[in-house]
Amino acid sequence: MNETVILQTPAKINLSLDITGKLPNGYHTLRSVFQAVGIYDTLTVTKTAPEQPLTLTCNDAAVPCDARNLVWKAAVRLLGENPCGISMHLEKRIPSQAGMGGGSSDCAAALVGIRKLLALPVTDAALHAHAAALGADCAFFLRGGTVLAEGIGEQLTPLAPLPPYPLVIAKGSEGISTPEAYRRIDAVSEPLPPDTDHVLENLSRGAEALFSVCGCHFDAVTDLPEVDTIRRVIRERGLNPVLSGSGAAVYAGCADMEQAERCADALRAAGLPFVTVCETVPDGIRCADLSIIHPEI
Ligand code: ATP
Repeated sequence: MNETVILQTPAKINLSLDITGKLPNGYHTLRSVFQAVGIYDTLTVTKTAPEQPLTLTCNDAAVPCDARNLVWKAAVRLLGENPCGISMHLEKRIPSQAGMGGGSSDCAAALVGIRKLLALPVTDAALHAHAAALGADCAFFLRGGTVLAEGIGEQLTPLAPLPPYPLVIAKGSEGISTPEAYRRIDAVSEPLPPDTDHVLENLSRGAEALFSVCGCHFDAVTDLPEVDTIRRVIRERGLNPVLSGSGAAVYAGCADMEQAERCADALRAAGLPFVTVCETVPDGIRCADLSIIHPEI
């Protein structure tokens, strides 16, 4: 049996994100098209002595390496309150507080990796239930690709995967806390126009048609100076800037890689600390042998 499992954990963007209401328990209802994108953290899970307590290390000092980390929560979920017998190392490339689901993707990878490494008798359905309990975004990453999320984000409907469309993505040094973003949405008095139906109608009509109708309700309540700079630079190139989730990363879909690279150069020249070019991807968590986990959702 393998003693180490290495997993590549993708990021996501939201092609649309409509906040449709608020339940009495305070949860918001939404309709959103989630899209996996080819920016990856790497999670390495290694077998240790069965009685040795879990250890977690990370290349990013800003990421907590204890029970606050979502990969630790995944270990607790599968192995109990005091997880033993594995160590984990996380190489972060997905920015935090970006709305790109980095922590949730790592969490889904930890579920997949621990089950595989320890050959746990956990069915795909049970793994999906664990992921859903840890967060709606976490459940999305088990499948990845293109998925419609409804309800409070827990109702996931897989859609036909997109071809690899080029994207430019940028984020300033400031992040946005998701609770604060929702407080701002609650303060909006006028209903915001929905984008999800337009996105669904244009999913199979090519990159230009699709990316011109993408949108996100959090865009209306996000006014960070760096976000405004990203929007301006992207618009100057005739592209449509869209906040990913609650922010603060902004993406634009491009006609080709050359256009994406040119826009990325302009964003770097404007001083943005995180700028990257990548593509939409049709899957989710990948194991090192590149076998792709596709449990039914
Ligand atoms: P989302 O797209 O779900 O809103 P996010 O953009 O807020 O995610 P995350 O990378 O999920 O970004 O991290 C948010 C916070 O969660 C971080 O500031 C960090 O303290 C904590 N955190 C917990 N687990 C992780 C993890 N594995 N990687 C990064 N941050 C984590």
